[in-house]
Amino acid sequence: EREAALTATSGPGATSDGHQVPLLANIGGPADLAAALAAGAEGVGLFRTEFLFLDDSAQAPSEEKQTETYRQVLEAFPEGRVVVRVLDAGADKPLDFLTPAAEPNPALGVRGLRTLLDHPEVLRTQLKALAAASSGLPARLEVMAPMVADRQDAKAFADACREAGLSAKFGVMVEIPAAALRARAVLQEVEFLSLGTNDLAQYTFAADRQVGAVSRWQDPWQPALLDLAAFAADGAKAEGKSCGVCGEAAADPLLACVLVGLGISSLSMGSASIPYVRATLAQHTLAQCERAAAAARATDSAQEARQAAQAALSGE
Ligand code: PEP
Ligand code: MG
Repeated sequence: EREAALTATSGPGATSDGHQVPLLANIGGPADLAAALAAGAEGVGLFRTEFLFLDDSAQAPSEEKQTETYRQVLEAFPEGRVVVRVLDAGADKPLDFLTPAAEPNPALGVRGLRTLLDHPEVLRTQLKALAAASSGLPARLEVMAPMVADRQDAKAFADACREAGLSAKFGVMVEIPAAALRARAVLQEVEFLSLGTNDLAQYTFAADRQVGAVSRWQDPWQPALLDLAAFAADGAKAEGKSCGVCGEAAADPLLACVLVGLGISSLSMGSASIPYVRATLAQHTLAQCERAAAAARATDSAQEARQAAQAALSGE
């Protein structure tokens, strides 16, 4: 059945009644591009640039090296969006030369955008490399910051992008509940939101994503997480802007339908999941996705939410 579903569709992501939902790839670098293209990704929704920084634990890669890498990624998708996330160091991805050594709770410490604002030269080099890589190419580069908490963070990031001469769309990841709750304020500074459901679950449930004993709270089906996603999507809609998802939640075909039903406008995932998500979305209308989303949010646990969505989508 899984194979049959795979051959059912190809091309752009859409519900059965034609509501478009771009399906994008999460990549760690040029090595992942072939799989993204083979899966029919419509672009890159999350380029995790920290992988570029792992080769040398003492310093950041040069502007030239970064420019070359970003250009390879941009050239692979001449028609599609390419959303590059600036360096997300700290917590589960520590970098010796940037991450403070002795924090009691690294996930709650200086990481993501906070690290970059403490090391503006690292952010500046990365943004200048992105500006150089995209010059002369059709303008479809989008740049986003990880671990944004509030409007002030979003403004600091947008200011840094403008100062680096970057002509791209600027956005932020919603990984901290505060940013979801104040999505409309954050969107006064930037053009789009992208939900990082892995960290959003960690911070919503106070459950470290690296601690197996609390893994039950990492389940993205939890109704509280769906509520936050809906809140962010509603805020974006009210501002006339977009809100995608780039966390693991987008890779679960059933949950992808629910996210679309909540008003999420694009889904980015590991390339291997794209055909399954495309096939499942193509079997349901937007109205059915909306009913599944409402049914899931009306429950009190991840397990019930999954069952309710499944029942709503199959009893149609
Ligand atoms: C997330 O937190 O959901 C996310 C996409 O970022 P990462 O997994 O790289 O922290
Ligand atoms: Mg994250």
